Amino acid sequence: MDVQTTFLDRLFQSGLLIDTGVDGLYGRSGQFEDVIAAFERLIDKFGGADGAEAMRFPPGMNRAFFEKSGYMKSFPQLAGTVHSFCGSELDHINLLQCMEVGDDWTKDQQATDIVLTPAACYPLYPTIARRGKLPMSGGLFDLQSYCFRHEPSQDPARQQLFRMREYICMGTEQHVTDFRQSWMDRGIEMMKAVGLDVTIDVANDPFFGRAGKMLANNQRDQNLKFELLIPITSVAKPTACMSFNYHQDAFGAKWDLYLEDGSVAHTACVGFGLERIALALFHHHGLEVKHWPSKVRQALWG
Ligand code: 5GP
Ligand code: ZN
Repeated sequence: MDVQTTFLDRLFQSGLLIDTGVDGLYGRSGQFEDVIAAFERLIDKFGGADGAEAMRFPPGMNRAFFEKSGYMKSFPQLAGTVHSFCGSELDHINLLQCMEVGDDWTKDQQATDIVLTPAACYPLYPTIARRGKLPMSGGLFDLQSYCFRHEPSQDPARQQLFRMREYICMGTEQHVTDFRQSWMDRGIEMMKAVGLDVTIDVANDPFFGRAGKMLANNQRDQNLKFELLIPITSVAKPTACMSFNYHQDAFGAKWDLYLEDGSVAHTACVGFGLERIALALFHHHGLEVKHWPSKVRQALWG
């Protein structure tokens, strides 16, 4: 049994995570949720004074926006689409017969207008574009969503449905790169406050295929993505618990996000992996919250 399975088993045994029979799809206990809620309040403490506009979208997004985003070009292996039965009564009888004999009943399911949200910020760009030009002072948004990525794994830090809290900044290059830098500094400070040792490193997204290798190299060479790493299931390969992404003007150009002077807006987003942060806390301080260091409890529950 490897180290990852052991931690997952301990999480199941303690009831913090609830086994559903599918790798990477778990229920969470009230205690686990309380840690996430407390950490989100800490995020509010650090970011609240910035005056971001809060929005919450459901974990599914408009398929047309998803198609336009280009997600299928870069990450087809991760996407999840929502399909439904749209047939006649006869089709229904056939479907039930298929299920009865253990055949594939899903092959005639039809695509709906909804796909599962792959990152919390995806529904935001078309929403803001619809409002017209952004003021020269830019825009700042606060989002949180369950996100889906099809990557089943027994590493509890790799889940298929997990929550991402994000701040998204739109504005000039200087504005959004300053925003990203300030959250890298805050990220380190926040994790220190809850007793977690972190490193920050340049990173890349898992772009699909051979062409994707070039995209990944380009992203790294240009320092477009940084991650805040915390050892959870492996010290040698610490887990990305926050990411700091600078999109240059790529999303601005794709979604027609303009500043008042007519220039294309630059964008950046900062994401907190909420389950990963909770898991890092449980891994580091133990599965019993009441035994966590008082300094950590104070930072989280005041
Ligand atoms: P990114 O869009 O940079 O891949 O992800 C943003 C953040 O979401 C990451 O920094 C990480 O904390 C979290 N995240 C990414 N993938 C997973 C995953 O498979 N499981 C969990 N629990 N969190 C993830
Ligand atoms: Zn984002």
